[in-house]
Amino acid sequence: MYIPLRMCAACREHKPKSELIRLKAADGIAVPDTDKVPVGRGVYICKSEACIRLAEKKRAVSRHLKAQPCEGLYRLLEGMI
Ligand SMILES: [Zn+2]
Repeated sequence: MYIPLRMCAACREHKPKSELIRLKAADGIAVPDTDKVPVGRGVYICKSEACIRLAEKKRAVSRHLKAQPCEGLYRLLEGMI
């Protein structure tokens, strides 16, 4: 069976989408993408505290999406693990 893999922007490992959280840019602000159907530019982060922290430190989300993180983005992501 074909499992589509996506790269985590923090650790750069390729993983099944189910193990990742997708983020998108909405009006220049990076937010978690909770839509079922992914639209537009997105970035993925592992559902792990370590990767969320790493993404925050590396500003990986902002760089990939060319958007500012929304207020409390990383705390929000930690709540989605
Ligand atoms: Zn990762």
